[in-house]
Amino acid sequence: MTTKYRYGELTWPEVKAAAAQHRVAVIPIATVEDHGPHLPIDTDLRLCNAVCEAAVERSADRAILVPSINHGYSPHHMDFPGAITIGPHTLLDYGLDVCKSLAHHGFNKLLIVNGHGSNTPFVDIIARLAVVHSGVLAAAVNYWNAPGVRDVAEGLRDSDKVGGMNHACEFETSLYLAIAPELVDMNLARRELSHRPTENYWTDLVAGDGPLVMMEPWSSLSQSGVMGDPTKATAAKGRALLEAAADGIVTLIDEMLAREPAISVDHH
Ligand SMILES: [Zn+2]
Repeated sequence: MTTKYRYGELTWPEVKAAAAQHRVAVIPIATVEDHGPHLPIDTDLRLCNAVCEAAVERSADRAILVPSINHGYSPHHMDFPGAITIGPHTLLDYGLDVCKSLAHHGFNKLLIVNGHGSNTPFVDIIARLAVVHSGVLAAAVNYWNAPGVRDVAEGLRDSDKVGGMNHACEFETSLYLAIAPELVDMNLARRELSHRPTENYWTDLVAGDGPLVMMEPWSSLSQSGVMGDPTKATAAKGRALLEAAADGIVTLIDEMLAREPAISVDHH
């Protein structure tokens, strides 16, 4: 029998056994928001879940896939129909409560895998809080920052060097084409790079961001909701990106497995 790796499909005795094996709990988190006229609003969620599913499937003996946290921090997208945002404190509390629950059942290694850029500061804090509150080893990563993904993406890039891979872009559209092409309308894909980069402000999923970190209302930055160049997307690129991201997450799972839990020392 193959090893079950989806948390929700386990029975409670199986959960107990998985925790006793110290399998790494992988927690996908994303959001629902506009992704241009050519991609569904579930893009961040679907891509993040696909990456995590592929990663945990290939590490099923040592990881477990927790059902995703579907909603995230997207207030800057509310000018576009479809976005669902939850408040910053709600997000922190929700994420931490999921981590605390897993820790309560004995999982001592938690990896939050994020699929939405504006969740980044929150998943960082959620992981930190989980360490403080539950004494577990908890970490967060944006899946496009998993080891190996950047090199593969830069090797595939046909869009603008900085800004071509941002949002509903060459990167995300390629992944969606690889996962569910019937939901992508490439006839509507348009290049849009209107986020007004300045000397110290620029953004790109793969090339990275400038030192000036800020987020203006999305409707002030993009007319279509796109930031980047989805016209350069292909399913073949998406398959390579999915493969790289899944491998990168497995690398992180193994790194967390090898790391001894921290032991704090009270010097009072
Ligand atoms: Zn996105």
